[in-house]
Amino acid sequence: MSDRRKAFDEYDKYTPVPKGLGNIGNTCFFNSATQCLVHLKYLFKALTEWKYGTMKSPLLTLRSELPVLNRTFMWILLRSYTNPEEETYGRYLTPRQFHNAFVHEYSAFRGYGQHDSHECSVLLLEALDLGIKKFLMDKCSYPKTKPSPIEEIFNFPVEQTVTCAQCECQFLSKSSWMDLTLELKRTKIQQQLMGKPSSMASDDDHLLYSIMESMPGREEPKKLSPHSLEYLLWLFTEPDPVPRDAGYVCERCSLRKAKMSNKNAAFQPWLDVLHAKQEEAIEKHGCVIRDGEGDIDYELDKLRKDQSWLRSNNSLLVGNRRELSAIMTEKRPVIRRCELKGLPKVLMIHLNRFNSGERRRSMFSSFFSFGGSKDDTSIQYPEYLDLSHLIPGYKYRLSSISIHSGSLGFGHYTAFARCGKEWYYFNDSMTEPTSPVHALTATSGAYMLYYELEEEE
Ligand SMILES: [Zn+2]
Repeated sequence: MSDRRKAFDEYDKYTPVPKGLGNIGNTCFFNSATQCLVHLKYLFKALTEWKYGTMKSPLLTLRSELPVLNRTFMWILLRSYTNPEEETYGRYLTPRQFHNAFVHEYSAFRGYGQHDSHECSVLLLEALDLGIKKFLMDKCSYPKTKPSPIEEIFNFPVEQTVTCAQCECQFLSKSSWMDLTLELKRTKIQQQLMGKPSSMASDDDHLLYSIMESMPGREEPKKLSPHSLEYLLWLFTEPDPVPRDAGYVCERCSLRKAKMSNKNAAFQPWLDVLHAKQEEAIEKHGCVIRDGEGDIDYELDKLRKDQSWLRSNNSLLVGNRRELSAIMTEKRPVIRRCELKGLPKVLMIHLNRFNSGERRRSMFSSFFSFGGSKDDTSIQYPEYLDLSHLIPGYKYRLSSISIHSGSLGFGHYTAFARCGKEWYYFNDSMTEPTSPVHALTATSGAYMLYYELEEEE
């Protein structure tokens, strides 16, 4: 067999050929995010092999009809997986059209400023996902309610419980996330409340502590280093006390207070109905389910739809709205707790190095520009991540890493990614082979980690 033929036979179509991405003006964050996505086997398969009904790979064969951002991403993706016989290693691509399409979609990324590769990856995926959904609904009569090929591989269910420290009522919200933001250490208040607060501490601290004490606790995993990814994943599910000034509202405490205030007599029938519905739901479910029975917005929406009820309760239109509104938005100390209810095929982990205030942002939430500082804490991450203690059989392998070096204002983004068995380093247009050791020891710069579920052999 000729060498050429042998090379062709050994070529795995799922192994990308390392290609750099040219920098077109402070676009290292964009290139780093793009490289990380391009090297995900599941994403490549989802975009090139996804089938629907009798249609084989509609996203590949009809790609000229995709929105421009999707089309230009497919251009990069397909060239990154080109048969090595056709294009030689080391050449680089210029993602000008793809970048243009991205900044057209998100004008905040125009210009030459510093941007965030996490924000960029999430928004890129969001835009690619929206483009595919629109295409599938228009061209393939794809049901709106079914998950898109991108959601199928990235999405995972998370339950967040917020417990009011005053009335102990729990509010449960269920949502679907596409990325997991991990804090690098305990928050200040989490550290403070690890032990019993002193007699000098505020009433809120005592309240928060006593509720946390009563929560079914989990032993701190002593075998894990607090600077390991596995520890941060554990920390993510720990009770997270949130002080009063953070802005959480307990609808149950507010409703009770509003009912007791005689300034709200005009609203009494309305408050009575809501209060009764809330207590009924708490009795039934043990908590208030956000956007479900007992949730104020949900119940109000039902009341609004019931026009006859509104007509017979003209009191809604008069009365001291300002007074009521102040009570209904009164802040309370709460305890948040997150639980992963499932895991995705591609686990996109964001190590929250930039101190920006808001925590655990999920896909499709709004972002804001960050000020503050960068946390260079070294975090150890494994090549093989076993999460079968969370969901049986879930074992991951690291596929790509977005790296941030330098400070917040003067930084540079690069990436490590795996091409089959080999690791490569991507620094804009430059690519070089590297060892897994190098890829796994960028511990103080690793910013985004992309793990893919290991496929059964
Ligand atoms: Zn409460």
